[in-house]
Amino acid sequence: MIAVADAFLGNPHLVRDLERVPCKGNWVAARSRYVDEQFGASGRQDVESRLEGAALDAFVHPPLPMVMSNVGVIAAIDRAILDGPMRGRFERMKHFGATIARYDVPVVYRVFFRFGSPGFILGRAGLIYGQYVKRGKMKADVGTTEGEITLTEVPLPYYLCEHGICGWLEAATELAGAKMPVARQTRCVHRGDSECRWHVAWR
Ligand SMILES: [Zn+2]
Repeated sequence: MIAVADAFLGNPHLVRDLERVPCKGNWVAARSRYVDEQFGASGRQDVESRLEGAALDAFVHPPLPMVMSNVGVIAAIDRAILDGPMRGRFERMKHFGATIARYDVPVVYRVFFRFGSPGFILGRAGLIYGQYVKRGKMKADVGTTEGEITLTEVPLPYYLCEHGICGWLEAATELAGAKMPVARQTRCVHRGDSECRWHVAWR
């Protein structure tokens, strides 16, 4: 395992072209909503004062859910949220990921998986991932009370690997009916592994 160069973005060589990683606009809208709900008008002002260009424009006027944005914009907004109203507390990024999952994962589940156990739904993580991010492949190897989710062919910013996606996976597993889900990252390209992997366990 190697040390991670930047606790936020990770290995700078891996994240040079985040603007070319397309993701769905509802990720932007969710950030705008999160700031309003968690930090109110002063939080919004703080975030906006730290943004410029495409990221500021996206935060102030979020694209419609189906319009594509990109992970570069997402990372710029998230850094402004972290440095601003979150006061640099990285551990809050997990809560952030979980809250965002609660906004729209129920809709995804209603559309794609009306019925199904947590294992069944988590087993389709690749399909769900493809709804959000248009680069990289997510594979799931899932049993009845635990599973492994592996992401290849796209390095996401490290804070998403380490915090945001863990929170997202826990909330998504819970929304599928699991009790007390716990997700942690076990492998990461930013630490020198060949892929990113998360272990999720629940009751
Ligand atoms: Zn990773």
